[in-house]
Amino acid sequence: MNQQIDALRALLTSPQKVVITMHRDPDADAMGSSLGWALYLEAKGHSVNVISPTDIAPNLMWMPTAGRVLTYEGNKSKPKVCRELIQDATLVCCLDFSALSRLKELGRWVNEAQGAKLLVDHHIEPETFADIMVWDTEAAATAQLIYKIVSEIDGPDFFDVPMAECLYAGIMTDTGSFRHGNTTPEVHLAVADLMRTGFEVNKVHRMIFDNSPLLRMKLVGHVLSEKLHVLPEYRTAYMTLTATELEKYKSGAGDTDGIVNYGLQVEDVVMSVLFIERKGEVKISFRSFGEFSVRDLANAHFNGGGHRNASGGRTTMSLDDTVEQFLKFLPFYKSQLLSVEK
Ligand code: 5GP
Ligand code: MN
Repeated sequence: MNQQIDALRALLTSPQKVVITMHRDPDADAMGSSLGWALYLEAKGHSVNVISPTDIAPNLMWMPTAGRVLTYEGNKSKPKVCRELIQDATLVCCLDFSALSRLKELGRWVNEAQGAKLLVDHHIEPETFADIMVWDTEAAATAQLIYKIVSEIDGPDFFDVPMAECLYAGIMTDTGSFRHGNTTPEVHLAVADLMRTGFEVNKVHRMIFDNSPLLRMKLVGHVLSEKLHVLPEYRTAYMTLTATELEKYKSGAGDTDGIVNYGLQVEDVVMSVLFIERKGEVKISFRSFGEFSVRDLANAHFNGGGHRNASGGRTTMSLDDTVEQFLKFLPFYKSQLLSVEK
């Protein structure tokens, strides 16, 4: 990793035209690491554009300079501008994803880009399209890796309040507010340096978690009362959301984030799954405890990946067929599920 950071340091000694991209349906880590990295690069005299493949959840728009993020598809999409910026860039940064498929169509332009490519990520399956890879699956968040790069190159005093807010948001959310197994001493030490800038920690939590549209809260209520199924023999909870339900609750980007976690709050449950019918596909979110790898399950059966305890996948089958398929696979995982400590 240090060699990779040295290569990056060398590249950044001359001014670069940078494009930063993140995964589709960006979460707080994708956005926070991208914006934190953009602010750093601009402070060092580079010119920077930030592109998201899809729309950004409203509860992430408080992030410093979030308004400047271009979207390739979605409500205010600018595909041509995005494509030209990528073609023109001398450095294309890929943050918080390691498979180009997670960019949807934008992945093609990134793949064909002439500029140098930098990957900064903590997911399990890196593709080897990048020239420089700061890739560490032990890192809790991509924002933690950005913290590491900046502090290696310019020291831990380099951060300012906007940068710290962005990076803290990514670390805080990807550690489940500092409670998942990925919450290491390094995480707390990084956060300590960020907090020395004097940003308001409580504001970041409020903006992300205490900022839901009323209809989103009602959607959560509906899922918990009507759509949460528990299979005690597999220690598994699952929930489904149809396109009609999403429409009824006017659910937009980011509104379903976090719902899958409720399943793990049920006693003895060690795996929780949320199936969402959206835009001609079914998006699946998996969460687990301990040794049980939902990443392997998502990868083996649902075209996905992620982390051991938090992963995602998708199918083009109907919602009912997807759930049926999942239930069919469950017996193969029974012994693993039963052996998890909770
Ligand atoms: P979420 O359930 O919050 O959408 O995703 C959980 C984790 O799985 C995140 O780290 C996310 O990056 C990863 N993930 C979600 N969907 C996919 C997917 O389709 N492919 C891969 N490789 N990872 C995914
Ligand atoms: Mn992340």
